[in-house]
Amino acid sequence: SCGICVEKCPFDAIEIINLPQELDDQPTHRYGENSFSLYGLPVPESGKVTGLLGPNGIGKSTAVDLLAGEVTPNLGRHESPPDWDEVVDEYRGTELQDYLAAVRDGDVDVAKKPQYVDEIPAQFDGNTRQLLEATDERGVLDDLVDRLSIRPVMDQAIDSLSGGELQRVALAATLARDADFYFVDELTPYLDIGQRVTAARLVRELAEDADKAVLVVEHDLAVLDMLADSIHVAYGEPSVYGVVTPPKSVRNGINEYLRGYLENENMRVRPEAIEFEEHAPRSASRRDTLVSYPDMTKSYGDGEFTLSVEGGDINRNEVLGVVGPNGIGKSTFAQLLAGGLEPSSVGGEAGAALDVGLDIAYKPQYVEADQQMRVDAFLSSVTDDVGTSYWQTEIADPLQLDPIMEQRLPDLSGGERQRVAIAATLSKDADLYLLDEPSAHLDVEQRVLATRAIRRFAENNESTVMVIDHDIYMIDLVSDRLMVFDGEPAEHGQASPPQAMRSGMNEFLANLDVTFRRDERLGRPRINKPDSQLDKQQKRDGEYYYTT
Ligand code: ADP
Ligand code: ADP
Ligand code: MG
Repeated sequence: SCGICVEKCPFDAIEIINLPQELDDQPTHRYGENSFSLYGLPVPESGKVTGLLGPNGIGKSTAVDLLAGEVTPNLGRHESPPDWDEVVDEYRGTELQDYLAAVRDGDVDVAKKPQYVDEIPAQFDGNTRQLLEATDERGVLDDLVDRLSIRPVMDQAIDSLSGGELQRVALAATLARDADFYFVDELTPYLDIGQRVTAARLVRELAEDADKAVLVVEHDLAVLDMLADSIHVAYGEPSVYGVVTPPKSVRNGINEYLRGYLENENMRVRPEAIEFEEHAPRSASRRDTLVSYPDMTKSYGDGEFTLSVEGGDINRNEVLGVVGPNGIGKSTFAQLLAGGLEPSSVGGEAGAALDVGLDIAYKPQYVEADQQMRVDAFLSSVTDDVGTSYWQTEIADPLQLDPIMEQRLPDLSGGERQRVAIAATLSKDADLYLLDEPSAHLDVEQRVLATRAIRRFAENNESTVMVIDHDIYMIDLVSDRLMVFDGEPAEHGQASPPQAMRSGMNEFLANLDVTFRRDERLGRPRINKPDSQLDKQQKRDGEYYYTT
């Protein structure tokens, strides 16, 4: 053993030899004896957006907390921490020296958006207006509130906001501050594609127009790609140690990370590459119908929001992707199918009942874990299959459950909680499985693994799965057909019947006015610059996503 890994080395012997030089030196920070250590730090730069890309548990939030002055670096000496002068001295001659000296002297103003916006309601008692008021140091709040579509929830209590609303409020609160350095610890969870693009533009403007330094942690590669000027990659062994590389160009950094080999560092960080498949859209093969649902509507209250569903079929043994903006009625539709909600009208008839008689296993968008229970006990309470080889290969392995089976639910990170929730849902016996935003809080590799697990589950069990997600690549890979929701969020929504992938993607992305191209080398989907050659060409051809 090289003495770094606590239990087993995640790499083969060759990579042990390749362990980076820094690991001989002291870490930037270690939480405690046998605890996680971080080596290196990213360097924020004024006028630029710096990205930080890496797997979950590798120290990205730790790096942000160190730079934001929330955690004082201890150079690995958690027992007798060095004083600040020593820390600054340690970074003498590096780009971080001035920055850390300023943190020491209390001279840097930082604004930070925390990773888990779900935790904000527990810390703030009041409404959106009250939360935002105190933050308007640059006089830009009005503009942010409009562009992030926060206006309708200004007088709503913070603890009544949806995850997507909280995320936008938290972002507005951060960007409105007058700071030198801005830290955004994950921009996109719970945001739909349109909101992601808007959020990314706002962050770019902050750097470009206001000449601020912004550091963004992000797993959505299409967003990171359009957002960052350069990126640092974080690698190592999750929960054990993490190393932050010097900056790389965005494209090289993303591609090296996906390939699993960092060129300048001469480091293999993963045994194999994360492959992006560029494939022609799946053609829906003929299948039996699981359910035919009629035209229906659902209004809430005095018609504050109305959903109109055009009747359609869901087939047995298909994965149905569901796309559309937030607040457009996707969850409402799911609850109508599940019988948890009464429709307002069916087939044009008010008050008629709907009974599709389906048993639905549902993973909600926001996964809560308030039970003081261990993961293994929780999953065993859902299924008798825990421990069988079937369950191990189909569920536990692809969702990387083994390392967390003995942890308690409330102690799990967002990505861990998500994987447990997906596992619990797929472990149930049901006619229809409904996964609401399974990609939230997962890192790039976990998204690919979860996508494969969902796909295999449907194929091997002849199950029918609906996947609501904003990660276009996950939707592309997992789905046989697509259901598109459109309308005016929070006012009215229309649901089209399930359709073939190509026409569905085109309908969905035309609504958003966004086209995608594929990276020439890795086939990774990238958002075209508005009005670029490709953007115009693809819009002329009516091909917003598939170019093969
Ligand atoms: P990332 O943001 O890349 O997912 P984090 O920086 O949140 O990773 O965490 C890296 C590792 O450090 C994890 O194993 C986490 O459990 C551990 N860790 C984070 N905060 C603390 C803390 N205050 N004390 C001990 N360990 C911590
Ligand atoms: P999506 O799943 O597409 O994000 P939802 O179906 O959750 O959308 O919500 C659609 C709209 O209906 C939103 O404006 C939401 O605030 C509103 N809404 C959802 N549930 C209720 C409810 N029980 N009472 C009143 N309004 C609701
Ligand atoms: Mg984090």
